[in-house]
Amino acid sequence: MRAEIISNGDELTSGKILDTNSQWLSLKLADIGITTLYHTTVGDDLNAMIEVLRIAVERADLILWTGGLGPTADDLTRQAIAECVGVPLEKNEESLRMIREMFQLRGHEMPKTNEIQAFQPRGAKTIRNPHGTAPGIDLTVTRSKPVNGRLDFFRIMAYPGVPAEMKEMWQDSGQQALQEMLGQLTGQKRVLRFRTIHAFGLGESQIEAMLPDIINRNHDPKVGITANQATITLRIVAESATEEECFKKIEPTATLIYNTLGQLIFGEGDDRLQEVVCRKLNASGKTLAVIEAGTRGLLAEAIAGSKEPPDCFAGGIVLPPKQPIDPDEMIRRGRRLFNVDYLLLVGAYPIGKPDRNRTEETFTAVIDARKTNLQESIITLQHYPYVGHPDIIDDLYVKRAINLLRKTIS
Ligand code: AMP
Ligand code: MG
Repeated sequence: MRAEIISNGDELTSGKILDTNSQWLSLKLADIGITTLYHTTVGDDLNAMIEVLRIAVERADLILWTGGLGPTADDLTRQAIAECVGVPLEKNEESLRMIREMFQLRGHEMPKTNEIQAFQPRGAKTIRNPHGTAPGIDLTVTRSKPVNGRLDFFRIMAYPGVPAEMKEMWQDSGQQALQEMLGQLTGQKRVLRFRTIHAFGLGESQIEAMLPDIINRNHDPKVGITANQATITLRIVAESATEEECFKKIEPTATLIYNTLGQLIFGEGDDRLQEVVCRKLNASGKTLAVIEAGTRGLLAEAIAGSKEPPDCFAGGIVLPPKQPIDPDEMIRRGRRLFNVDYLLLVGAYPIGKPDRNRTEETFTAVIDARKTNLQESIITLQHYPYVGHPDIIDDLYVKRAINLLRKTIS
């Protein structure tokens, strides 16, 4: 099965906003084993919309569309689908009821203009929109003549453009509906389950090289690797008849990844480094303050933004990058202000020198703030060359620091 994702809106083609819906939906389709082959973006022009749809139904079996389902004159998705498929638009009572209810919930009468949103191409099913007024369209059409390599039908699923609504509708019904369809196509019930494992400390290609056999297209379960701001994520996807069988498939692969990557692995699922560290500190009743120079407060922001309870975090000191400062001075300042177990330091610029010279060293350190002797209180101190892409370098220092703390306290 081949998929095409079409995003619709003048705000996209004019460059005013970026199409994030296609990216999100592609990832979600991949989760259930559907490959996306095309991304198309089209403005609010009926002829252009019909044209891209005609091309899409020839080269894909599943077309996911976002945008253009609102009540205004530039919302033309309903017409485009009806024209492409050659069916009339009809008022759908089920849709109308959903839209009325949504307005009632908000305490308003439904304006007459919104009635248009209840019109759907003949034969389409309504996709429920739990928190918005625009229901989606789900239309399956049997092909009148076979197209080489394509299924004997195509399916168009249209969602509103508002990312939050589109995502909610996907979780609410879209994923389930497609999994059912895939099950019918293969004649067997399909369940997909995945597990994501996060690592930090080596690059994507280095980690890939450590796991050559499992990050292989033919490996079952499939393992994908992605890098996001120096965090490496391994995603194990298993497909089977039952959830239990999926997890049984995943287990040995996960174990192999853990055995191979060891300490590089810091967490799974929604965990970021800050969640892992805060969870550990909270569990042992320890407290932390951060002192950073040259990272624009991102270290404090990361720890303060942890989804774990904030019990462990006492606060932070943010210093400008221009101010020369050494670790000793940072420790003294931290002690004066905070009564904590640990101080985490980042000096993301060359020590004692005010300019950000790319080849000079920077440091991160974990301090046992209960020890009075300054030298003895330094548990770990690491220097790094100041290299990295300007867009991610601050984030990289922050992650390195939190990772150092993670390894120190584990
Ligand atoms: P629409 O459903 O076409 O009325 O879109 C409503 C709003 O959702 C637009 O004004 C955009 O801000 C946003 N939006 C629409 N399509 C996308 C997209 N593909 N990616 C991200 N945001 C979008
Ligand atoms: Mg629009």
